[in-house]
Amino acid sequence: MADRPASEHPDHFRRRGILFVVSSPSGAGKSTISRKLLAGDPGLTMSVSATTRPMRPGEEDGRDYHFVDVPRFKDMVANHEFLEWAHVFGHRYGTPRAPVEAALASGRDVLFDIDWQGAQQLYQRAGGDVVRVFIFPPSLAELERRLRARGTDSEEVIVGRMNRAAAEISHWDGYDYVLVNDDVERCYADVQKILEAERLKRSRQQGLIGYVRKLMTENSDS
Ligand code: ADP
Ligand code: 5GP
Repeated sequence: MADRPASEHPDHFRRRGILFVVSSPSGAGKSTISRKLLAGDPGLTMSVSATTRPMRPGEEDGRDYHFVDVPRFKDMVANHEFLEWAHVFGHRYGTPRAPVEAALASGRDVLFDIDWQGAQQLYQRAGGDVVRVFIFPPSLAELERRLRARGTDSEEVIVGRMNRAAAEISHWDGYDYVLVNDDVERCYADVQKILEAERLKRSRQQGLIGYVRKLMTENSDS
């Protein structure tokens, strides 16, 4: 039993869902880690953000982001459709509320690829249900190398991302866990361990008091 992922353990107790945030400076590897997590964990659902930034080659509307224009984004803000939203790299990004609530209600945990502002806002809203993981690159030189190797951004965008990296890294202490993505397999394994341990936390188990009462009275019932 111990070698099965926590999401497949038999449900002794109902459990509160986890809002699992993974942030990093752009290029440190959070999408790579997130993809691996989702592929290996049926109990985890990705939150698909809305953004006003243009679609990149290879991206798909509804899968990578919901690509919307600024008036539509502003309507969504006015209608309280976001759990959180922020300006990042000169564009607006936000987490649609309804899919997150639906996933949690169906007993799944939700993975968020959002920046420090989003992590902070989610924490203000959902407190103990939020687990925040920050991923460092091994060095800024390696971060730049990865951004270039990814081949998705223009030189101007890469310079912008590198300029912003230090600012993002400066928010590392707003996270519960910090990891260095040096070896991707090791970093992925560590993120998995964090999620599995967080799933087992006493504070997330519901119905514990009833269970313990029943356990304690088993002898007197017989
Ligand atoms: P982010 O989502 O943080 O912007 P990505 O996951 O897109 O970053 O990773 C940026 C690039 O670096 C990708 O080309 C990815 O394949 C590569 N990469 C990710 N992790 C590692 C690693 N540990 N070592 C080397 N390259 C990596
Ligand atoms: P990119 O344009 O590279 O996809 O994302 C840029 C940054 O925006 C990343 O740091 C990413 O984590 C962040 N981001 C993506 N979606 C959201 C969101 O819904 N809310 C917030 N606050 N940040 C987001």
